[in-house]
Amino acid sequence: MARISIDLKNGDLANQASETIIGIDLGTTNSLVAYVIEGKAVAVKDNKNNKTLVPSILHLKEESGFVVGAEAHEMLVTDPANTIYSVKRLLGKSYHDLESVQTILGYEVIDDGSESLVKIKVRNKFYTPTELSAEILKALKIRVEAELGSTVSKAVITVPAYFNDAQRQATRDAGKLAGLDVLRIINEPTAASLAYGLGQKDEQIIAVYDLGGGTFDISILQIQDGVFEVLATNGDTFLGGDDFDRLIVDFWRKEYQLSDSKIFSGKSAGQRLRLLAEKAKKHFSSENTFQSNLDGTEFMLTKQQFEQLITPLVDKTIDCCRQALSDAKLETKDIQHIVMVGGSTRVDFVKQRVGAFFKKTVYDNIDPDEVVALGAAIQADILAGNQKDVLLLDITPLSLGIETMGGLMDTIIPRNTKVPSKAGRQYTTSIDGQKNLKIAVFQGERDLVTNNRKLGEFVLRNIPPMPAGLPKIEVQFIINADGILKVKAKELRSGTEQAIDIKPTYGISEEDMGRMLLDSIQNASSDMAARAILEAKNEANHILLSTDKFLEQNDSVLSDLEIEEIRSLQSNLKSASDGNDKDLINSAIQQLNDYSAPIAHKVMDLVIRKAMKGQKV
Ligand code: AMP
Repeated sequence: MARISIDLKNGDLANQASETIIGIDLGTTNSLVAYVIEGKAVAVKDNKNNKTLVPSILHLKEESGFVVGAEAHEMLVTDPANTIYSVKRLLGKSYHDLESVQTILGYEVIDDGSESLVKIKVRNKFYTPTELSAEILKALKIRVEAELGSTVSKAVITVPAYFNDAQRQATRDAGKLAGLDVLRIINEPTAASLAYGLGQKDEQIIAVYDLGGGTFDISILQIQDGVFEVLATNGDTFLGGDDFDRLIVDFWRKEYQLSDSKIFSGKSAGQRLRLLAEKAKKHFSSENTFQSNLDGTEFMLTKQQFEQLITPLVDKTIDCCRQALSDAKLETKDIQHIVMVGGSTRVDFVKQRVGAFFKKTVYDNIDPDEVVALGAAIQADILAGNQKDVLLLDITPLSLGIETMGGLMDTIIPRNTKVPSKAGRQYTTSIDGQKNLKIAVFQGERDLVTNNRKLGEFVLRNIPPMPAGLPKIEVQFIINADGILKVKAKELRSGTEQAIDIKPTYGISEEDMGRMLLDSIQNASSDMAARAILEAKNEANHILLSTDKFLEQNDSVLSDLEIEEIRSLQSNLKSASDGNDKDLINSAIQQLNDYSAPIAHKVMDLVIRKAMKGQKV
């Protein structure tokens, strides 16, 4: 057997625990960077404006390259053509995915014909969303390095739970371009839950309600032994606090009969009115009425009017929550906690409505703008090895496989395989007409599955009836960079398939793993003997079944003596395989084979001759 020492825990990372690993929330509207210091997660402030939020906006200057954040935000009004926002909406997207997005963006998204992923044209040059996201990440990296006074090179970056592989990969690539080794991509709702310390306790189900500036997401997560599983997501990619502002603006335009010519002159008129609306909205976190003069017009709004205006939008988010619950086959009573994320969850009315729907008080005492980045920083700290009780691995610590005939472990991904990794093997059925096949997934080094750890199982159904041994069932194990194992089974002739996702590190401590490895070494010789017996029994079983079939089909051509002798050798094998003497079983197999093989040949010849009768060759 290969290495046995248990130096498995993030070998290369542990050595560099002194380097701070940062957590990044790369948002559609705003981004943030955070890190853990003395056990506490903190978001990094900009020393110019003392804010933790960095607007996810880029402006390309004529000569000096990109500026990011607040400075670029200002250019949104004065030089919109060279200012890019919401680039996250384009990450990992091809031109086919784009129609709905392109219409809302003020800059030029083009198809230069060279490849299928979108590009953005700024000052006659083409940039991919990945390159632009990298610019935002670089700005965050510079910000945190200035605060720490040292360089950083490793990060955890968050993405929405619904991001597909292409979008996750694009985020990873952006990190790489920014000079960051992205140790892990984690889901935003998972990060938010980590920030609230959810995940260490017993099994629980939580809802993460994320209402930002332009998007809404609801995620239902199941947490078990520190492992987060997304049960359902729902949302609206074009619903957020910016829509609240728009509704206020529309209301005022009607209320004060403002036409564009009557109110404000100049390019930024609409923008200024929108900013006033946003101010009014934020005002209602502490006050009940808003009043302000802008260019001679007195703008007024009450909190009640505001709540009336936004009711249809808040209703829409509640509908999404209802749908997510139904997709997860859950009811509101199954949800233990509700975590609030995103600036727009500061709106009292939103909190009340969400709390009323789930019939629980929501978690809102961490800044909803920072909560995701803080959670990412906590995940980073775990990876740095600073949180000892949490296990995270970059290689498979134990072998992964499935149960085959007789309870034997058939390893598909051996231990110490670097993740991500993919492996597969073909299997078949052992009974004629078998319609269902149970795939039971195990982890461990022992030969018998009963001594290993069961991770899960599923049934591949609707295999078309075929003789035993004919179906070709391909079982694939795919373990991704985040340690999630996907097991897929497919019957190749009919195409029927089934899959499950498993987290192999789920609820297993390093100590348990060490013990499992030690057990496998101590029991190696008895395991080998047990495997040999089981393999002999499997073989005996197979031969007994096929001999039965042979007798049944060839009853008319066999002599009574032959039938009697075969039956006696069969019964001999049967009683041997009831015992545990491998040699006895193998010798009984041999005897049956020796006697029946020549008879089988003879029968075969007879059948062929019969078939050829009357045919010219
Ligand atoms: P995010 O995308 O999570 O950064 O959220 C930004 C959104 O939160 C914007 O629409 C802001 O106007 C909104 N927001 C920030 N603070 C408040 C507040 N106190 N009350 C209402 N909305 C707010």
